[in-house]
Amino acid sequence: MGGNSFLIETPLPSTNGNGHAPASPTIGGEIVDSQLLGAEVESLNAEEAIAWAMDRFGSDLRFAISFQKTSSVIVDMVSRLASETRLFYVDTGLLFPETYDTRDALAGRYGIEFERFADISLAEQEERRAANLLRPGQDGCCADRKVELMRTALGDVSCWVSGIRRADSPTRANAPKFGWDERFGLWKLNPLADWDEKRIWNYIKEYHVPYNPLHDQGYPSIGCMPCTTVAPSGADERAGRWAGTDRTECGING
Ligand code: SF4
Repeated sequence: MGGNSFLIETPLPSTNGNGHAPASPTIGGEIVDSQLLGAEVESLNAEEAIAWAMDRFGSDLRFAISFQKTSSVIVDMVSRLASETRLFYVDTGLLFPETYDTRDALAGRYGIEFERFADISLAEQEERRAANLLRPGQDGCCADRKVELMRTALGDVSCWVSGIRRADSPTRANAPKFGWDERFGLWKLNPLADWDEKRIWNYIKEYHVPYNPLHDQGYPSIGCMPCTTVAPSGADERAGRWAGTDRTECGING
């Protein structure tokens, strides 16, 4: 892909949804045609898309790591491309012990230090929300323990990388590989958007990548302990998240 093939002369619409993003989609200070750029990245495979983003954004790029199976694939790919990359995770304080073990296994295998973003304790959360006492799983908890931290983590970069896939759930079925993220006001790369379950596991097995052992215990998707359960057989990937409620997303990816 040519370095300047997406530059345009006419500014794009200036809204971004949260008021702190650049007025128009830009890369390196140059306005780009986000639709054209998205179409070009769509044609790249996952490794190519990550390599392209690293080249295009440099240190202005951050990888969000959840220590689920897709994160294992992405961490392995990143490790083959560069030694110095910014990978981070949001520590809600309510993650499974197996998730922290996976973090440590990946860190040891690849010599990576994952940046940790953590903020309020449960006690502080209760105090903050005293008028409507919040517990894990209730409205506002994800906003306090995840989304705010994501805003902090992404506050000084122009692009972030997520492990979401179209096969995860109906709400993610149209996720592009690359596009403007209105929610956080920056670019977002989903390099595994078109990967299915089989491809994920084939990759993990082929390269012997450490992965979260909860996947072997019936957890297709893994988040905080109070809000994650084993999913029924045949249910979609996200069925074990906030089971029994209408919620399907925490506010980071949808
Ligand atoms: S997943 Fe559950 S415990 Fe974790 S931040 Fe969201 S509501 Fe709170």
